Amino acid sequence: MAWDFSTEPEFQEQLDWVADFCVTEIEPLDLVFPGAAWSRNPKARALADPLKQQVKDRGLWALFLDKDLGGPGFGQLKLALLNEILGRYRSAPVMFGTAAPDTGNMEMLAAYGTPEQKERWLTPLLNQEIFSAYSMTEPQGGSDPNLFKTHAVRDGDEWVISGEKWFTSAGERADILFVMCTNGMFVVPRETPGVEMMDYPRLHNHVRYNNVRVPADHLLGPEDGAKVLAQRRLGGGRIHHAMRTVAQVKLAFDMMCERALSRESHGKVIAEHQMVQEAIADSYAEINMLRLLVLWTAWTIDNSSTREARTQIAACKYTMGKVLREVSYRALHIMGSLGTTNLTPLQAMYAGAPTMAIADGVDEVHKVTVARNVLRGYSPHEGLWPTEYLPAKRDQARKKYESLIEADPDLAAWADAAVRHAERG
Ligand SMILES: Cc1cc2nc3c(=O)[nH]c(=O)nc-3n(C[C@H](O)[C@H](O)[C@H](O)COP(=O)(O)OP(=O)(O)OC[C@H]3O[C@@H](n4cnc5c(N)ncnc54)[C@H](O)[C@@H]3O)c2cc1C
Repeated sequence: MAWDFSTEPEFQEQLDWVADFCVTEIEPLDLVFPGAAWSRNPKARALADPLKQQVKDRGLWALFLDKDLGGPGFGQLKLALLNEILGRYRSAPVMFGTAAPDTGNMEMLAAYGTPEQKERWLTPLLNQEIFSAYSMTEPQGGSDPNLFKTHAVRDGDEWVISGEKWFTSAGERADILFVMCTNGMFVVPRETPGVEMMDYPRLHNHVRYNNVRVPADHLLGPEDGAKVLAQRRLGGGRIHHAMRTVAQVKLAFDMMCERALSRESHGKVIAEHQMVQEAIADSYAEINMLRLLVLWTAWTIDNSSTREARTQIAACKYTMGKVLREVSYRALHIMGSLGTTNLTPLQAMYAGAPTMAIADGVDEVHKVTVARNVLRGYSPHEGLWPTEYLPAKRDQARKKYESLIEADPDLAAWADAAVRHAERG
């Protein structure tokens, strides 16, 4: 039986360990020392590093990298099941070596880097000895790569990069920046003269590249290959976000159900009010629709490639923002006034929903991708009527029975009457 929705017992054991580890180790650290997982402070690192070591000892570090790229090769389906747990805790992706933006950058390096480039950047990124950022979007427009202007000019043994990038997440704390130029993808150490971090925004940096010189071997992949590398990077990133979103909406759902059973109004617990039940029922169905879409997409990637699964990935991309928005809003609403404060995770989760619809490409662009790809499997109908126009279809079908109907007038009369009856509905 090929369609099997169960998890193999050995991996379920790992998942149970992860769930317990997150509750007993990661969540307390997040609450008391927020940001310790990615801090450079030696005391904070001393708290986080032993936890990362435990993850490595269990063989669960950097699960996102396939075997052919130097990773453990668990595949995307197992990663999806893991991320359904990790996405609930702020620092868990870093603790398991699966946090954006490093994951996408590592994937590009693993797929396109020379052995020297991998040794210089991939190994320390995998070990979290260094951190990276991705500079693609430009101030004048992000959705259309044809508007990008940042360019590199070859000068002897060096490339000279000029341009301006916007919303480079974690750019300020990165050691290396992956800079998408119109003529290639370049790795730029952040301390290189000419890299200028603007004051705002604070987390997703506005960066100016003022005649930044890097050695010739800092070009990643082929010259003019930036768009191909970017697709590779973003394809994986989008599905990973969707996997973590499943974790977020499950958290919202748990909170919604617990609260519904805990509060009373107008003589009964609010879970007994039908509109609250509708919120729970709709959320249950939407979460499971998203989850199955994500798992099916992960399975497709494992059984073909990210490229083959691009329509499904695009569908995950715009579905996750919608489900996150709907479910977190319902949970927040059922929480009443408390839901509007920052005393539970719900307010931040709801505020994060529009972000999901913009980061990694706006939803509209992904909807266009899905519609275009899906429409390739169809063609216009011939003549005036659609294929399913019943009178025409029936005329066609009658030809199959022509000899029978001509030979038996009773049967022909019965068929005419039956059709008239069916047409009346
Ligand atoms: C949290 C977060 C993290 C990010 N991290 C990074 C990062 O690390 N590196 C990086 O380079 N970028 C990053 N980005 C930027 C992101 O890639 C861009 O925001 C995104 O591509 C959209 O570009 P834009 O913001 O310029 O919006 P625009 O392109 O200006 O789009 C604005 C709106 O115009 C409409 N629109 C645009 N195109 C179309 C279309 N084809 N059809 C219909 N409507 C359309 C949509 O309503 C859209 O929301 C991040 C963004 C967010 C929110």
